[in-house]
Amino acid sequence: MSVPEIPKEQWAQVVETVGGPVVYKKIPVPTPGPDEVLINIKYSGVCHTDLHAKNGDWPLEVKMPLVGGHEGAGLVVSKGELVTDIQLGDKVGIKWLNGSCMNCSFCRQTEEPLCPSASLSGYTVDGSFQQYAIGKAAHVARIPAECDLESIAPILCAGLTVYKGLKESGARPGEEVAIVGAGGGLGTMAIQYAKAMGLRTIAIDGGEEKEKVTLELGASKYIDFTKTKNLVQDVQKASADGLGPKAVLLLAVSEKPFQQASEYVRSRGTIVCVGLPAGAFLKAPVFDTVVRMITIKGSYVGNRQDTVEAIEFFRRGLIKAPYKVVGLSELQSVYDLMVEHKIAGRYVVDVSR
Ligand code: NAD
Ligand code: ZN
Ligand code: ZN
Repeated sequence: MSVPEIPKEQWAQVVETVGGPVVYKKIPVPTPGPDEVLINIKYSGVCHTDLHAKNGDWPLEVKMPLVGGHEGAGLVVSKGELVTDIQLGDKVGIKWLNGSCMNCSFCRQTEEPLCPSASLSGYTVDGSFQQYAIGKAAHVARIPAECDLESIAPILCAGLTVYKGLKESGARPGEEVAIVGAGGGLGTMAIQYAKAMGLRTIAIDGGEEKEKVTLELGASKYIDFTKTKNLVQDVQKASADGLGPKAVLLLAVSEKPFQQASEYVRSRGTIVCVGLPAGAFLKAPVFDTVVRMITIKGSYVGNRQDTVEAIEFFRRGLIKAPYKVVGLSELQSVYDLMVEHKIAGRYVVDVSR
């Protein structure tokens, strides 16, 4: 294959100060290190995490100035001398975990998201809201040649994260999972993965657009948290035998659902926390947690094997969550909609415009 021409400068969306807007401007194209690849990003999904990073919502220091983005799909255009298993022209993806040490006790046991020296795309290192992004070769997602780069982008964080969360829930085929924040980017993916895994879903979110999208995707019931008089009762009633869903996947970007889930989850059920609302705390009555044997746990993206599996569901045509495409230059308008919970599904930015 002929060597592609790599420009010296590129367009990017840059956050210059915590809490400030994104600035669309030209920045230098980075050079990959020996164990890295340079990727010409074509499309990148916009995750709510990118907004948390921009706003400095979490107790974890964020790089400034920052190029956000961690659902970037593109083509390898250059690579370091140690990279032997990826070729120029290969389709790959930037995901949240950009790199890890590969040698700590977590990395050795394929729990690399827990690596104490992990680097995070669009957070501790620049991410995919630029035309040329760098990823550690060991960690970039391998995208099968036949997959379309636009529609696979949201799989790289949203798809992977909810697939892992569903596995962590321990729910088995035929059982029910409540998806909280079901109409958002992660939620719409969760309904699709759950369906493909033989699970039934109860969707919880707000507004009619989210109702329409979640029911179309295959949720068995929709509960509108903005309208219900008794959410706990409604969720339990929505389950097939009235005893509540076997698992709850908490994807919402607000604290209240994290305080409610223990009241409606089935006895012996599992609550999986995935969403990361700023400054939020979990709450559950000790008595119920004990006598109803409830499990409460966290789930954080996925490892390299989870990535391969999540992509394989997509490649097989089982995951078709809705998304809209806008130019990279319009990223700020996506954040404006996100703050107001007005996005049903995902926005994907076309990095060429
Ligand atoms: P999103 O904005 O697309 O979706 C969030 C949804 O939650 C919206 O549809 C909103 O209407 C809904 N919601 C808000 N309040 C609610 C309530 N009280 N009850 C039910 N629904 C409610 O966001 P997203 O991109 O899907 O991300 C969701 C969260 O997951 C973010 O906090 C993000 O940072 C986090 N996240 C975590 C991981 C992880 O590894 N754990 C990975 C990716 C994203
Ligand atoms: Zn994400
Ligand atoms: Zn490590």
